[in-house]
Amino acid sequence: MAETSSSSSSAAAPAPAPSSDPAVDPTAIASMAEEAPPEEMTLVVKWSGKEYTVRAAGDDTLGELKMRICEVTDVLPKRQKLLYPRLMLKDDSVLLSSLPLKPSLKFSMIGTVEEEILVDRPDDPEVLDDHELLQDEVTAIKDKDVYRQKLIRRAKQYKVKLLNPCREGKRLLVLDIDYTLFDHKSPAENPLELMRPFLHEFLTAAYAEYDIMIWSATSMKWVQLKMEQLGVLSNPGYKITALLDHMGMITVQSEKHSEKRTFDCKPLGLIWTKFPEYYNENNTIMFDDLRRNFVMNPQNGLVIKPFRARRF
Ligand SMILES: [Mg+2]
Repeated sequence: MAETSSSSSSAAAPAPAPSSDPAVDPTAIASMAEEAPPEEMTLVVKWSGKEYTVRAAGDDTLGELKMRICEVTDVLPKRQKLLYPRLMLKDDSVLLSSLPLKPSLKFSMIGTVEEEILVDRPDDPEVLDDHELLQDEVTAIKDKDVYRQKLIRRAKQYKVKLLNPCREGKRLLVLDIDYTLFDHKSPAENPLELMRPFLHEFLTAAYAEYDIMIWSATSMKWVQLKMEQLGVLSNPGYKITALLDHMGMITVQSEKHSEKRTFDCKPLGLIWTKFPEYYNENNTIMFDDLRRNFVMNPQNGLVIKPFRARRF
């Protein structure tokens, strides 16, 4: 009866801790982006006692994997901490193809769903400064096959829900939210105080010639909430065609003076692929206070001055 448990440890032998993180090698990322096969892989993520299956590709970054995980768990990428046996996963720009992932192993995720933290604005576009992209950098990014492939995949995966039908013969205006329609940083009692002045007048005037879509680098819940608070979804003067969120964005990498930067952008090609009979590169314009968001379609972007209601 008495089991002579010499020791309770029957688990696998402890692995030697890696002295350095083999996954995070920023200098290798660009060349890997070129070489990485866009092979699809199926990954399993454990979160809150359940397992979720996520499809990703080798040229997706860890940040993009977090977006995929967000789709099935509602935990925003910024709120996710990913764990994987013997790997340090700290750099969201690292490519999945550069990680030694094994089919038998699973990710674990720690994170909180958005409802519980909605008060605290989850995504902050100001975290990255909008460095000036040189013209040749922009060209290099938009013409890279790896990003074109990524865009094609994203267009297949991402669903654009129409709030109102596309209108025959209209052009398309795509608007950012933060600092374009709304100052999300200044304190205010009422969100309307932070709305860009004459927003409704502008949208009403634009609606005569343009269908209007709103695209923000945050979650759909937040996009909807903010647009409802500002009265953009209920104004009788215009109708919003669609809302898009961070899940429609793709991650790209620029290189300037051998310094590499990874950032997300809003590829208009996603909308053009979805609605080719209405919108294309000849009739679409996007307003955004961040130039990098246009990097896949520089001819269709207008950088506008950020609106800041109050400065202290
Ligand atoms: Mg903005």
